[in-house]
Amino acid sequence: MADVVAPEKVVSFKYTLENGEGELIESSGDEAMPYLHGAGNIVPGLERAMQGHAVGDTFDVEVAAAEGYGERIDGTVEVPRSAFPDEVEVSEGMSFVAEGPDGEAFPLWVIEVTDDLVIAEPNHPLAGVDLKFSVEIIDIRDASAEELEHGHAHGPDGHHH
Ligand code: ZN
Repeated sequence: MADVVAPEKVVSFKYTLENGEGELIESSGDEAMPYLHGAGNIVPGLERAMQGHAVGDTFDVEVAAAEGYGERIDGTVEVPRSAFPDEVEVSEGMSFVAEGPDGEAFPLWVIEVTDDLVIAEPNHPLAGVDLKFSVEIIDIRDASAEELEHGHAHGPDGHHH
């Protein structure tokens, strides 16, 4: 029986991603992207749609923002520029991980940089955007023990982070 997409499989796929208005957001180009299925490596709505597909399958899937990069969350966070190491060039669009009041990690995206301050918000650039993926499944293989342990796929050269 041919492999189908299931947990503990590494799946390589090509895709194009459009927003709800049909504008191209990104594309894998000619290079298939590998991911470990069932590990939350891709957005939930896409991961669910991949399940059960076989090599050679092509399909479109519409993913609402909540099942994609999440709904937008109001509010910004201001961090002193001095909280970043001098050698780090902080620029708009870059993301970093901050620590919440209870020590939990949460990702932030920089929206503005001034001389003294870095202003960031908790929204991925695609938060609040409805997504449409066009997918072609290129390869499906068993994950290695190391990949399962790490919770992500490794590239053809072994380690790839
Ligand atoms: Zn790894």
